[in-house]
Amino acid sequence: MPQTARTIVIHETGGPEVLRIEDRRIGDPGPGEIRIRHHACGLNFIDVYQRMGLYPLELPQALGMEGAGIIEAVGPGVPHLKPGDRAAYAAAPPGAYAEARVMPAAQVCPLPKSIGFDQGAAMMLKGMTVEYLFHRTTPLKRGDTVLFHAAAGGVGLIACQWARSEGLRLIGTAGSDEKCELALHHGASACINYRSEDFAQRVRDLTDGAGVDVVMDSIGADTFVGSLDSLKPLGMMISFGNASGPVPPFDLAMLAQRGSLRITRPTLFTHIADAAICQDMAQHLFSKVTKGDIQIRIDQRFALDQVADAHRALEARQTTGSTILEV
Ligand code: NDP
Repeated sequence: MPQTARTIVIHETGGPEVLRIEDRRIGDPGPGEIRIRHHACGLNFIDVYQRMGLYPLELPQALGMEGAGIIEAVGPGVPHLKPGDRAAYAAAPPGAYAEARVMPAAQVCPLPKSIGFDQGAAMMLKGMTVEYLFHRTTPLKRGDTVLFHAAAGGVGLIACQWARSEGLRLIGTAGSDEKCELALHHGASACINYRSEDFAQRVRDLTDGAGVDVVMDSIGADTFVGSLDSLKPLGMMISFGNASGPVPPFDLAMLAQRGSLRITRPTLFTHIADAAICQDMAQHLFSKVTKGDIQIRIDQRFALDQVADAHRALEARQTTGSTILEV
């Protein structure tokens, strides 16, 4: 049953003005695929990197990596979903900024009844990222101290609550005193306004000179060296994003000079490539939300055709928590 769906597409990379709305033809799902009708989709910083060309894509390309809605049709070989199911996902390839789409089923997860579509669209990519950061990247135990940048953002507010629920001490950073208040309210033990303070120095003060066990840094260029300076000897630097630009090439000796530091540069998409692991990660996230350990805060909502304004707000650091596009 061919039909069309309003879809946000880029034909060239560039600023928010390259985001265009188009009617795209969508067909029936093939083997291993589903067709989903979205109620909402999530806005993520990766969408900005893709739009700008920092993460290259073949063009033209629909954008969006996160959505929630109702399964409309299921191709052969999809045992875990059926038409009429509520579902949510974080998945490649991009294409979630759309009324409906056909996509691989492996990373699409049945959404518990107690979780709304808006919440689903606001939490899958960000929440499963926090899941792997806290459980799969490096061993963490109760009482460990983590420095987490952009703690009032979409990933950040989930991370604050996740850390509190696991007995970890999370020191956040954020770009204003109001954002710091928000991070503290969601479970950060301390929060540093890194626009007005030297965060590495403040981390030393907050840890009696010791430094933190782990840094989770999604800011990239602006924070990289300060993050290394915030670590204990043998500490772990997790560089997982580049909101201020990519980390420039660096001398490995910087890790030795600061005490045999470790470093990794993970992405969610490696972690969810295995369908069974992806479903496990989603279940873990759903259980945290259902128990009330984590509340998904949607602080901004935009209509699908206002997507350029949504990108502008995210890049201008005007958002807190999650942002969704209503379909
Ligand atoms: P956020 O809601 O956290 O928005 C980004 C935040 O980064 C801003 O609000 C701002 O907070 C901070 N920031 C600091 N410097 C800049 C700058 N120069 N330009 C813009 N923002 C800046 O976004 P998301 O929750 O979507 O993602 C958070 C980060 O995590 C992103 O870098 C993203 O790429 C990364 N990520 C990585 C994944 C992975 O697996 N590797 C998966 C998911 C996300 P403030 O004003 O407080 O500084």
